[in-house]
Amino acid sequence: MSAPDIDWDQVTQEATDLLSRYLTIDTTNPPGNEEPAARYLAELLRAEGIDDITFYDASDETSKGRVSMLARLPGDGSARPLVLLNHTDVVPVERDGWDEEPFAGLVKDGVIWGRGAVDMKGMGIMELIAMFLIRRHNIPHRRDINFLAVADEEEGSKYGVEYLDQHHPEALEGEYVINEGGWGTTEMMGVSRPVFNCAVSEKGPCWLRLETEGHPGHASVPRGNSALDRLLRALHRIQEWSHPTNIVPELSEFFARAHRYGFMDEAPTEKAIAGMGEENPLIRAMTSNTISITKIRSGMKHNVIPASAEATLDCRLLPGADADAFIEELRQVVDDPKVRIEKVLVSSTPPSPIDSELMSVIETVVREHVEEAVVLPFVSAGFTDSRVFRRRGITAYGFIPVLLEPREAVTIHGHNERISIENLRLGCQILFEVVRRICA
Ligand SMILES: [Zn+2]
Repeated sequence: MSAPDIDWDQVTQEATDLLSRYLTIDTTNPPGNEEPAARYLAELLRAEGIDDITFYDASDETSKGRVSMLARLPGDGSARPLVLLNHTDVVPVERDGWDEEPFAGLVKDGVIWGRGAVDMKGMGIMELIAMFLIRRHNIPHRRDINFLAVADEEEGSKYGVEYLDQHHPEALEGEYVINEGGWGTTEMMGVSRPVFNCAVSEKGPCWLRLETEGHPGHASVPRGNSALDRLLRALHRIQEWSHPTNIVPELSEFFARAHRYGFMDEAPTEKAIAGMGEENPLIRAMTSNTISITKIRSGMKHNVIPASAEATLDCRLLPGADADAFIEELRQVVDDPKVRIEKVLVSSTPPSPIDSELMSVIETVVREHVEEAVVLPFVSAGFTDSRVFRRRGITAYGFIPVLLEPREAVTIHGHNERISIENLRLGCQILFEVVRRICA
C-alpha cells in the first residue's frame, strides 16, 4: 500500500506544539517524578482514540511518581509487536550555562529549546506522531505498535525498564524496538555528508567507587599517606593507564562502510583506527574501554587532614568485555590494598544483528528522504534501555532520525539543548515511514 497523503506542514506544527508543552514538564532525574509526563502522553493518545493504555508505578518508600506508560495500537496479530521506546526523564541542567530557559518550551527562530529536546522527549513526540498518523489514516498493520514511555533511564532504569523487566515482562514483548542510541549527523570524521548512525550495540557501564581511610591530623604536619594522598596516587595511576584499541565485530562493519563511503581514506586497519582515535575522542571511546573520574569527595576544613576519601569512576567497557577481569586489572593498576574498589552499576548487552528487515527498511527510508545519506551500524558509547530488550533476544536499534550539526550534538546532556523544527519534521517523516513499512 502506498503512503497516504499527509499534510506535513500541519503535522510539523502539531509536533512543535506538543514538544514545546512536553518540555515544560520538569522530569529532572533525580528525582525523576515522571508521572505527569506519562499522563500527558497518555491523554494525547486517548484523544486520538488509542485507549489501550497501562500505567506502571515503580515508586517505593524512597520515591514517588516513578510511572511508565504503555499504549498499544493492536495489529492483525500476524507478526510480533514493534516497540517505540522513549524515556520521559531528563538529566539536570546547570541553569547559568543556558542562554534560554530550559523548562519553558521556548520556540524561537525555528528552534525548540529545552532539556530533553533531543534526549529524548523530541523522539518521544516523533513516536507519538507516528502512532497518531497510523491511526488517523487507518493504515493496516500486522504488528501491534507499542508506544512505551519509561521512567528513570538517566539513572540506570531501576524505576523504569529494569522494573518492567522484573515485574511486567509482558510490557516489553516485541520483535523490534526503535529507541535512542544513534542519530544522524551532517558530518563525520571531518567529511561533510549526512550519515545516520544506527546503534546495534552499546558499551557497558561499569561504575565504581574507590574508598580509602587514613589517619587524620593537623595539616601543619603532613605524613604523605593520608586518605587523600592515597586516593590521589591511585587516581593518577588510573589516568596513566592506557587501554588498547579493540575493534569488536559490530564495529568492523561501521569502519568498512566509513571507508567505502569516503569518510576515511585509509583502509580500516586496527592501526589506522587507533591513529584516528588519538585525534577523535568519540572514535577512541568506541574502540577501547574508557574511564572518566567523575567525583571526588574528601576534607572539611582548610587545616585538617581528612580521615577518609572517595572517588567515583565511570568506566565504559566494550561489548563482550568481562567486567570482573577489568576490575581485577584496575586493582593491579591502583596497586594499593588500602584503596577499596566497590561496584555501583555493572551491565552489558549482546548486540542486535546488523542485517534485519528493520535495518533494510531504515536504510531505504533514509535514502528516500535525505540525498546522499548513508546509514552506518554503530556501537553507542553511552548505554540505553535497549540493553534490556537485547538481553531478551529482541532486536533493538538506536535511531533518532534527525540530522544534527556538531554544535547541536554537544548540547545533549550539556547546555542549551535544542532541536530545530526542520529536524523535528524530518524525524517525524522518517520515523512514520519506517513504522508504516515495517508493520505493513
Ligand atoms: Zn537518553
